[in-house]
Amino acid sequence: MEVAVLGGGAAGFFAAISCKQNYPAAKVVLYEKTEKLLAKVKVSGGGRCNVTHACFTVSQLVKSYPRGEKFLRKSFEQFNTTDTIKWFESRGVKLKTEADGRMFPVTDSSQTIIDCLESEAQNLGVLVKTSSAVTGIEKVENGFLLKFSESNKKQVDKLIIATGGSPKPEGFLWLQKLGHRIEAPVPSLFTFNIPDNDITSLMGVAVENATVWIEKTKLKQQGPVLVTHWGLSGPAVLKLSSFGARVLSDMNYNFKVHVNWLGELNEEEARLKIAEELQTSNQKKISNTKPFDIPNRLWLYLLNKSGIGEETRWTELKKENRNRLINFLTNHEFEVKGKTTFKEEFVTCGGISLSDVNPQTMQSLVCPGLYFAGEVLDIDGITGGFNFQAAWTTGFIAGKISSTA
Ligand SMILES: Cc1cc2nc3c(=O)[nH]c(=O)nc-3n(C[C@H](O)[C@H](O)[C@H](O)COP(=O)(O)OP(=O)(O)OC[C@H]3O[C@@H](n4cnc5c(N)ncnc54)[C@H](O)[C@@H]3O)c2cc1C
Repeated sequence: MEVAVLGGGAAGFFAAISCKQNYPAAKVVLYEKTEKLLAKVKVSGGGRCNVTHACFTVSQLVKSYPRGEKFLRKSFEQFNTTDTIKWFESRGVKLKTEADGRMFPVTDSSQTIIDCLESEAQNLGVLVKTSSAVTGIEKVENGFLLKFSESNKKQVDKLIIATGGSPKPEGFLWLQKLGHRIEAPVPSLFTFNIPDNDITSLMGVAVENATVWIEKTKLKQQGPVLVTHWGLSGPAVLKLSSFGARVLSDMNYNFKVHVNWLGELNEEEARLKIAEELQTSNQKKISNTKPFDIPNRLWLYLLNKSGIGEETRWTELKKENRNRLINFLTNHEFEVKGKTTFKEEFVTCGGISLSDVNPQTMQSLVCPGLYFAGEVLDIDGITGGFNFQAAWTTGFIAGKISSTA
């Protein structure tokens, strides 16, 4: 049996390795279009590679996938985060967990992951061919004809496609021709541009627990928010961009975002806290006595926006200014105009429609003998190692070449 794996990324390597382990006698050839293997692994996680996430229950894990939640439920039963950790550790790569749950190699170097995958593939006898772009696929009797150029074609028995995401629909045309439906690709994981707003003067300010929501949608997230020199970022914003990838694309990235800097405290609760502070600190300056757990720079900025001077004492606080302050604290509105790609990690929302793929085998339901793995599928997760986890899981399963349709 000859198996071709298209794509030398995380999913392609995992699929080729899994295939050779399951079928040692098979000829497994991995074709990579560029000169470089595992290029995204190299730059991932700021060069450290956030391999997976310390989330160990499938029902919890799937919630981190805005696309693929239901599909992955079945796939994770076969290979999940625990298996990823075991897989790497049994090959000498120890992983560590950071406070927020992200897992990295203890070396803090993505090269460790690359070395592990490359040597495992080599030891098993996977043949790796770089600078080998497949430009077309034809289904033939008992297999597939891969086209590299007009004069260079090759027939294989089974095919695993792990060619990654594509920001443009044209990138999926060759797979569409085989009969697969394509969910239109749009970017996921981006930050919000808020031009012409003085909030950017707070660049670098991070709020531990804010609530962020988007007007006229049901999109809402809670967590850390970071003010940047172009707008808003941080985990809560990135999560919103991920869950709202399609809706926000439809809005052409022009929308209103609201921030409650106090996280869980609502307007009434904020009002009560201010009333209490007024009682206890009545002669003190408001700028010096902050009743909320937010950064000082943000507190001073919000006081200024509410018309409250630095010298104003609690007893001097006017009702109108107090109301403005409460509104800014719990419902600060910003006009978003455009997005910026998150520097650490970005993925494609969209790809091969999951309704055309069996989640237990990764085999195409419209083209038997063909399997998919990784970001080429309409699967993407939030930041934190979830995207690689999906690549490991789908690659591992695809490599089994299970004949179940
Ligand atoms: C900067 C950055 C940092 C990231 N950091 C993290 C992180 O720390 N943790 C995390 O979980 N996720 C991270 N991600 C997301 C993660 O890298 C991807 O989800 C993951 O790499 C997808 O793996 P893949 O193998 O499906 O696709 P890819 O890694 O994109 O690999 C696909 C490969 O297929 C090749 N190819 C394409 N077409 C053809 C063809 N026709 N013939 C042959 N070969 C072809 C491509 O050249 C490529 O090498 C990051 C993404 C980026 C961009």
